[in-house]
Amino acid sequence: MDIINVGDKSINLYLIASNTHRLLIDTGFPNSLNNLGREMRKTGFKVNEIDFLIVTHFHVDHAGAIQEIKNQGVKFILFDIQQNAIKPMEDLTLGKWQYTPLRLDDNILMKVNHSREFLKSININGEIVATPGHSADSISLLLDSGESFTGDLYAEYLLTEKDFEQKQSWQKLKQLGVKEAFPSHGQPYKIQ
Ligand SMILES: [Zn+2]
Repeated sequence: MDIINVGDKSINLYLIASNTHRLLIDTGFPNSLNNLGREMRKTGFKVNEIDFLIVTHFHVDHAGAIQEIKNQGVKFILFDIQQNAIKPMEDLTLGKWQYTPLRLDDNILMKVNHSREFLKSININGEIVATPGHSADSISLLLDSGESFTGDLYAEYLLTEKDFEQKQSWQKLKQLGVKEAFPSHGQPYKIQ
């Protein structure tokens, strides 16, 4: 399994490549498809060779280019717990960015607790974990080998009393065996 960062200065976008499939985590800002295309070229794969796209949550830097990427032939997996987060992001984004609205009739709607089965089918061993706190719709991909793609979940040492939900999310990831976090902003770091 290869983990390749195809993001830019503003955000890390992680491409997970199994021996048969490619899964992209997060999209970058609206109108950023060219950046993704440029970074993908360095990997030897084209954007249209990404099989599936997921987003860690619906904030504009993470989910602002979903439809642009879908239009290249990439299938978008929308998790059940993220459905209600689309409209709030679009309300903040439309008119301010060159944003392509997300079509709702051609996504793969998936329950978080069916993720392991799906990932297995594309030769990725792991699961999607609901990790709310930064936002209600935040998810993390946790690989069985311990790497977790945590989106904007704050590093645990930055959390205070008030961040009860994010603490619980870390608790959950630790119980499931997280060893290394790959955040959307900043460098990967080990978990003790
Ligand atoms: Zn965010």
